[in-house]
Amino acid sequence: MLPALFVSHGAPTLPLTDTAAKRFLAGLGTDIHRRYGRPAAILVASAHWETESPSVSAPEVNDTIHDFSGFPRALYELRYPAPGAPALAERACDLLCAAGLRSAIDPRRGLDHGAWVPLSLMYPAADIPVAQVSLQSHLGPAHHLQLGRALAPLRDEGVLIVGSGSLTHDLSEFRAYRGAMDAPEPAWVTDFADWFAAAIAERRTSDLLAYRRLAPNAAKNHPTEEHLLPMYVALGAGGDGAAEHLHASTTHGVLRMDVFAFH
Ligand code: ZN
Repeated sequence: MLPALFVSHGAPTLPLTDTAAKRFLAGLGTDIHRRYGRPAAILVASAHWETESPSVSAPEVNDTIHDFSGFPRALYELRYPAPGAPALAERACDLLCAAGLRSAIDPRRGLDHGAWVPLSLMYPAADIPVAQVSLQSHLGPAHHLQLGRALAPLRDEGVLIVGSGSLTHDLSEFRAYRGAMDAPEPAWVTDFADWFAAAIAERRTSDLLAYRRLAPNAAKNHPTEEHLLPMYVALGAGGDGAAEHLHASTTHGVLRMDVFAFH
């Protein structure tokens, strides 16, 4: 069965960089193919789509949404025209409703950069159908764990569930570090990332749900929660098996690029 993934998508410029994170993601699709086979479809919970209650995207073909500003022109020319996945969207909606999470289909929404940046590296042919499911950042980690658990049966149906956010994400600090891709990582980033990875490895779900109280420098690394909430979707979708810390690296000093797989 396919694992559920959490990927850190970093700055939108990731596809234009030469970084360990980019190289890792560029090999991840092949690695998944070798270990589990080719996904029939992909469902992404991205930090960059938030709605009042869950929405699932279902266009026929995905538009590429360039939901950022002030980046190099080459980035705005990138396209990821993956087919939509309307049948998957209907199925996801049914599963969410069955779990008591009222949800809706959005027939127009395309792919934001939280989805297309990592997918363009993992599956550059853009030939696997993709849908997105939205976050509700006002409802916190427990809601997103429940959302992931509701979607878990899709893994049995050949769907790769991907939570796309960032293990650390203090954008005010990112702006200061923006010109320094290889800046050294400050301790307040390392300490948080280490705590989170250990809690995942030991499957301390109740600690993870209370990360804001328990993890060092939690509010500093996540002034707002939306880039960490996709982790809980992946955690919930992944079931109770082993967790793999597939990749760890840092860009711009403060953006951890870690990737986890949940089985
Ligand atoms: Zn982001």
